[in-house]
Amino acid sequence: MNYREKWFAANKSDHGWYTCAKCGKKIHKCDVDIDHIIPQKYGGSDELYNLQCTCKHCNRSKQAKLKGVPENFVKHNLKRAANKILDNLKSRIQ
Ligand SMILES: [Zn+2]
Repeated sequence: MNYREKWFAANKSDHGWYTCAKCGKKIHKCDVDIDHIIPQKYGGSDELYNLQCTCKHCNRSKQAKLKGVPENFVKHNLKRAANKILDNLKSRIQ
């Protein structure tokens, strides 16, 4: 069973309708996106507690916001932090 099937098995519809966890809009099963609250690429699991039902619009806007941000943030700031430490060490040697 994949995570989508797992979520549908655990959450009964209201006569074929589901409610978006973000905007509260009523959506049909075919328009439901099962969203990982913590995205899979950041270690989020396929367990029910990490899954929520969203409409396609809300899920897409979340993906756009999260896209690459933490990775770039870490990369960028790690480099800056490392450079600062190096500069500090160099200034002590001279
Ligand atoms: Zn929505």
